[in-house]
Amino acid sequence: MATFAVTPASEEQHAAWQSRTAMPQVERVRPGLWSIPVPIPVNPLRYVLVYALELPGGVAIIDAGWNTDEAYQALAAGLAVAGYTIADVKGVLVTHIHPDHYGLAGRVREDSGAWIALHPADAALLHDRYDDGAIDLLVEKERRLLVRSGVPDATLEELAGASMMIRHMVSMARPDRLVADGESLDLSGWDLRAIWTPGHSPGHLCFVSPSRRVLFSGDHVLARITPIVAVHPQSSPNPLADYLDSLAAVRKWDVDEVLPAHEYRFLELAERVDHVLAHHEERLAEIETVVAGAASGISCWAVATRLTWSRPWETIPAFMRRAANNETLAHLVWLEARGRVRRVAGEVDLWGARDFM
Ligand SMILES: [Zn+2]
Ligand SMILES: [Zn+2]
Repeated sequence: MATFAVTPASEEQHAAWQSRTAMPQVERVRPGLWSIPVPIPVNPLRYVLVYALELPGGVAIIDAGWNTDEAYQALAAGLAVAGYTIADVKGVLVTHIHPDHYGLAGRVREDSGAWIALHPADAALLHDRYDDGAIDLLVEKERRLLVRSGVPDATLEELAGASMMIRHMVSMARPDRLVADGESLDLSGWDLRAIWTPGHSPGHLCFVSPSRRVLFSGDHVLARITPIVAVHPQSSPNPLADYLDSLAAVRKWDVDEVLPAHEYRFLELAERVDHVLAHHEERLAEIETVVAGAASGISCWAVATRLTWSRPWETIPAFMRRAANNETLAHLVWLEARGRVRRVAGEVDLWGARDFM
C-alpha cells in the first residue's frame, strides 16, 4: 500500500504522542474550543482527547474519559486551564459507549447537572446490559462465536474470559438525550451537526462544525491507527459494510482539521479516509486469497493465524487475538455478502471460495 502520512495540526501534540510517555498539553484549538487529554489506565492509547466547546456560561464536552479519579482530575484541570470547572459542563456529547469515551460521563453529570447525549443504537446496547444476567449472557454469546470461529479448546477459555470491556460498561449512566443522524445540536454559538458513523460501534457519532470547518471524529477516523471493526455479540450483522459506508459519510465534508479522540489532530480528512479504505481493500484481498487456497474449507480462526499482523501471532495477548479473530470475521462476512467467499455453517463454520461446498 502506498504510504501516506497525515499532517499533524499541532506539533506539540504530535511530539507528545510520539514520545510514548508525555501527555500532550491542554490546547486552545480555536477560539472557544479546547483539547483536553484525559489519561486511560493501562492502554497503549494512553489518553482520550476530550474537546470542550465554550457556550454562554459554560461548556459542552465531546467525550468524557475513563471512569477513574485520575481521569476526573485531568478533566477538571484541563477545564480550569480554559477557565471552567466540572460544574460548568452543560452537556456531554458521547461519540460511542466504549469506556474510554463514556465511562466518566455519569460522574460529570452528577457534579454538574449536564445532560448526556448518545446515538440510540449505542444507547440500546447500554440498556441491554442492565438486565439481570446480561453480562453472563454476552460472555456466553462471545464464547459461542469463538467456538464457531474454530478457536482451539486450549485457547478458548483464555480468550472468552477477556471481557474486561463488557464488564466496565455495566456501571455506565443512561443518556438523557438521543441524537440522530444529521441532527443539529442546539449549542449556542455552534453549528454542530451529528453524523451517524456505525462500524466501530453501532451508534458511533462524529460531529461536524461547517462554519469552523472541523470534524470531531471520535474513534472513526484517526491519524495513524484504524479502529477495531469486528463481529461480536453486540455488533451489527455486517459491521465492516457499515464502517466503509460511514467513511464515505464523513469524507464528503470539506473541513480544515480532524479532531480525533486519540493520538493527535491532523489536516487531511479525505486522504486519510482513502488510505483507510485502501487498507481494508488490501485486507479483504489478503483474506480472500487465504480462503481460496484452502480447498477443503478453513475456519475463521485459522484464517486469522495466517494473516500478517504487527507482531508474530503467538506473541499477541489473548484479548487482542480475540479482537483479531473477530476483525477477520468482519472481513469474511463482508466478502460473503459480496459473494466472494462462501460459508458452510457447522459446529465450526468453514469458509471457502465461491464454488466451495
Ligand atoms: Zn472505541
Ligand atoms: Zn477510543
